[in-house]
Amino acid sequence: MLPQESPYMSEVTGQSLKSASISVRGIVQGVGFRPFVYGLAVEHNLKGWVYNTSEDVKIEVEGETEAVEQFEQELETKAPPLAHIESVTIEHHPSIGYKNFEIRQSQAQEGKYQLISPDVATCQPCLGELLNPEDRRYRYPFTNCTNCGPRFTIIEDMPYDRPKTTMRYFQMCPQCQAEYDNPLDRRFHAQPNACPKCGPRVELVDNQGNPVTPILSGLNPVTAASQLLKDGKIVAIKGLGGFLLACDATNDTAVKTLRQRKKRSSKPFAIMVTTIDEAKRHCYVSPEDENLLTSPQSPIVLIKWREDSSVSQEVAPNLRFLGIMLPYTPLHHILLRDTGLPLVMTSGNLSEDPIARDNDEALRRLSRIADYFLVHNRDIYSRYDDSVAIVERGTGQLIRRARSYAPYPIRLPFEAKQILGCGAEEKNTFCLAKDNYAFLSQHIGDMESMETLEHFDSTISLYEGLFHVEPEVIAHDLHPDYLATKYARELGESGVKLIPVQHHHAHIASCLADNGLESPVIGVAFDGTGMGADGNIWGGEFLVADYRSFNRVGHLEYLPLPGGAAAIKRPYRTAIGYILTLLGEDALNHDLPVMREVDDMEVEVIKRQIERRINSPLSSSMGRLFDAISALLGIRAEIDYEGQAAVELEMAAYSSVIASSVSDEAISSAQESYPYRIVEDERIRIVQLRDLFSVVIEDVHKGISKERISGKFHNTIAQMINEMCHLIADETPIVSGVALSGGVFQNRLLLRKTVNLLESSGFQVFTHRQVPCNDGGISLGQTVIANFAV
Ligand SMILES: [Zn+2]
Ligand SMILES: [Zn+2]
Repeated sequence: MLPQESPYMSEVTGQSLKSASISVRGIVQGVGFRPFVYGLAVEHNLKGWVYNTSEDVKIEVEGETEAVEQFEQELETKAPPLAHIESVTIEHHPSIGYKNFEIRQSQAQEGKYQLISPDVATCQPCLGELLNPEDRRYRYPFTNCTNCGPRFTIIEDMPYDRPKTTMRYFQMCPQCQAEYDNPLDRRFHAQPNACPKCGPRVELVDNQGNPVTPILSGLNPVTAASQLLKDGKIVAIKGLGGFLLACDATNDTAVKTLRQRKKRSSKPFAIMVTTIDEAKRHCYVSPEDENLLTSPQSPIVLIKWREDSSVSQEVAPNLRFLGIMLPYTPLHHILLRDTGLPLVMTSGNLSEDPIARDNDEALRRLSRIADYFLVHNRDIYSRYDDSVAIVERGTGQLIRRARSYAPYPIRLPFEAKQILGCGAEEKNTFCLAKDNYAFLSQHIGDMESMETLEHFDSTISLYEGLFHVEPEVIAHDLHPDYLATKYARELGESGVKLIPVQHHHAHIASCLADNGLESPVIGVAFDGTGMGADGNIWGGEFLVADYRSFNRVGHLEYLPLPGGAAAIKRPYRTAIGYILTLLGEDALNHDLPVMREVDDMEVEVIKRQIERRINSPLSSSMGRLFDAISALLGIRAEIDYEGQAAVELEMAAYSSVIASSVSDEAISSAQESYPYRIVEDERIRIVQLRDLFSVVIEDVHKGISKERISGKFHNTIAQMINEMCHLIADETPIVSGVALSGGVFQNRLLLRKTVNLLESSGFQVFTHRQVPCNDGGISLGQTVIANFAV
């Protein structure tokens, strides 16, 4: 044998040869990864193979050293848009002498699982085909490819193959099959591949389920639906993860009608517009907002609303931010283009029920809300609401995590046991942990009805099946009456270990996990309600915490909520209760705006409830303090949705400084504030609010505007956080930073002021990124805490 035949030397050039065995993990299946590897190998003149296993993609390449090194680099830097690479391991070895590069048969392995791609917004090449009259998919509402389209919502089981999705009922036509089989085609192994000849179809029906297309003769169902929308009708549209209710967002009457029928009097709706340019006509879109709006996730983004927008005020009454998104399915793209108007797009449900999924179910549950239904015959397997995000500190932060984010896991900084965290009551999610992953479910909803509980239960089963998780431990909230807690306790009867977790500890732990931290922090957990370890309602908490334990080192003073739940619905009760307790009856002057909302008899009832401690639970909640100030100023006395009083108080603070010419920096720099007192009681620091209320009331009597008072109040809370953190840090040198969590930090003005103050006084500040700071992140916190408790 001649020496040049040594596997280390190229026959032709005499250059050195190299071989590599590569394993790639992450979301690398069903996203066009193998065709990408194939193309890359051919481009670099490499030989070998690629195939999928149940847990990774395996690759073998050999060729000239430089080419192999290039390939290894570009494998990560040029990966397809939907691939999400978790790890790449490479081993080099002597060359074997392959003659070509091939895509080999997939290999299934028992007991292994892989990550699943969330659904993805229509990609640019598919949109091009959709709008091209020459293309065979012109205006076809189910156009997709390996870079876009439905994924998680149609998957019933793994591995991800067409027979295990709701596409199994559709036999591909020869043209689609040829695309599917060609490794160099954009639709190679695109499981939902379809075309007008062989794929799903849309149909327009009335609210009795009767087809209406023939009546609007000659129009296709989408154009007919757009006509109805232009006429002010409400149309339920079957989307990716469920039905959305649509109407003309510029038509006051249509939006009001939708509000009445949906029994949602003022909670903001989101809108969908056709293009990013149109979005800019309604909102002040920053470059970061634009990145998020046009991303493959295509979430609803809350953006400052333009004063000259044609969108009806009824869409988001009293608010200065508008929830806006771009079309994310081909059906949306053509419907929006046909309609030529911004459309309200809100979950197809009544109040807080789960989003409707099946055609029959939608007709049953939504026939009193929608006039017409634009349905189709591709089933939705998993319900999925739209995700909601904001841009803060230069990056996107999720407020609701659902479509296009779940079930992508959060990577944990440690190896986890198999755990189920059941979450809280409002904005529930659950979380399943395994290996280094926390699989946080999509937004499930408020756990107040049997329908939501069923959705919760069936989605847990789906996740357990897909990711092969068998929980050894179940974590739950301390509140015994939460449906999620009851669910956990029932499972506990079969012998699974239960770990109860305090609500605000869970908030802080979720922020730690979200940032991949393990060391203790000062946790500032501000929200509306969470059961405390002492049986009171907590919500204005300063903790020193890590995953293992927490120490409550400070909180707002306890004050009574007269009527309990009634005080939450009617913040004027909270305001009066706080004033009576802190300042006495004399302070309840009839000139106060809050006194306009209440008659003398109710004031007497409130007084008696507080004096005799009847149904007046004690609360240290920051959310309730915002409610009380909002009601005291006459901004919001009664609420229609959770957080409304606090949100409108925040909006008032913007008004004090916003003409849109005034920058965010100007808002942050206003310094005036209210007094408060910090006292120490058995090593816990208590923030006393007597002085704050007394001076706010003085300001009201002086005729100072509610806008300016609100601004001063926001400054006060930011200063209070900063001062408390300094006091705590002086005593606890082990802490490395401050974590901010809880629904109150959805208040962007407060968040911005607080972060600025803390950072300028030298603290490292951690806020939420991939997980909502509200109760949508609680189950993650429960899960990581339980992991260290057993
Ligand atoms: Zn595509
Ligand atoms: Zn076809």
